[in-house]
Amino acid sequence: MSKKGFFGNWGGAYIPEVLNQTFRQLEAEYGRARQDPSFWQEYTALMSNYSCRPTPLTYAANLSRHFGGAQIYIKREDLNHTGAHKANNVMGQGLLVKRMGKKRVIAETGAGQHGMATATMAAKFGFACTIYMGEVDVRRQRPNVFWMEKMGATVVPVKDGSRTLKDAINEAFRDWVTNLDDTHYVFGTACGPAPFPEMVSWFQSIIGQEAARQILEQHGRLPARVYACVGGGSNAMGVFQGFLGDDVELVGVEAGGHGLDSGRHASRLCGRDASPGVAQGYKSMFLQNEDGQMLETHSVAAGLDYVGVSPILSDLADKKRVRFESATDQEVIAALDLTMRLEGIIPALESSHAFVQAFKEAPELPQEAAIIINMSGRGDKDIFTIAHAFDDPSWKEFIIARAEEYRK
Ligand SMILES: *Cc1c(COP(=O)(O)O)cnc(C)c1O
Repeated sequence: MSKKGFFGNWGGAYIPEVLNQTFRQLEAEYGRARQDPSFWQEYTALMSNYSCRPTPLTYAANLSRHFGGAQIYIKREDLNHTGAHKANNVMGQGLLVKRMGKKRVIAETGAGQHGMATATMAAKFGFACTIYMGEVDVRRQRPNVFWMEKMGATVVPVKDGSRTLKDAINEAFRDWVTNLDDTHYVFGTACGPAPFPEMVSWFQSIIGQEAARQILEQHGRLPARVYACVGGGSNAMGVFQGFLGDDVELVGVEAGGHGLDSGRHASRLCGRDASPGVAQGYKSMFLQNEDGQMLETHSVAAGLDYVGVSPILSDLADKKRVRFESATDQEVIAALDLTMRLEGIIPALESSHAFVQAFKEAPELPQEAAIIINMSGRGDKDIFTIAHAFDDPSWKEFIIARAEEYRK
């Protein structure tokens, strides 16, 4: 990172002046943590005790045999507490909040996964917690809202704009500006103003550190390729950092939705619909119109349904260090189906994007080669969407019967 928080042409910290001092404090605390080896030790100890780290690197023997090419390994971030890599980021930030002596955390959430992870962290550390969530998402994601509230968080439905994720982010910034002294904003991905992209990526780098060690132990050499899905970019940055300096091809997979020509997707770095812009405090590629108004995005996976992308990934795309591809909603359901049947593993809809691209490329690689798929989370949370996609009649009956029970 350059002095001003830029990665090549991207990044920066476009923040209102009132936030300057808070950002200086955060940067200083983060800087001290990076210099202090005991911080990383405390972090990894916490993650091993509270979140099942190191997560396994599972050899997918049946999938490997099925495709007949490269040996397929799956990095199991689904086995984290709360079921995804998001735990890595929130627990890391929680330790920083403790060091800063703050007592309250806020966060934005779209599908509710980051809100859940933050509420969990707040309960464990004893922080007050407010989660901003678009009103539409509150309605769509009732189970997550239920758990957040049960863990003591206040969930605030945001009624502005499209009443989804980007409006929740704006509202969270508004809260922060008025509660600077005691509040930390736990940003959910490797986006936002500096130092968030780098800091979140640092916490997530635990994935890549483990994966690099594990593949050498289990396969005897580095993988040919590493695949990760890309929403904001945090799980991708996490696993990629284990291999950035090596001769390993890195592949980021974005949400292709109904197809790159459909106008209904969330592909910022592949496809032709995104352009450079500054929003939500950072410069990157955004899905926006000519006036800089953010477009509506679409993905079957709520966690990938976002207008912006990590400035670090925009830079790695410029440098051609990471190749970007996209997977459509339909391809995602097919990859999920195959993975459940052959391995007994249920990837999240987000993670399934990475599986799609890996499955396309595995047959063309030699059998001595290994590839790693970063499985960012588990698919249990997606049961409503997946059951709908499979058009499962008994599931439909079950939902209707439950609803009728309540109506009585
Ligand atoms: C939130 C989420 C993502 C997308 O976030 P990134 O910052 O791009 O990693 C991907 N997978 C799962 C399971 C998620 O919950």
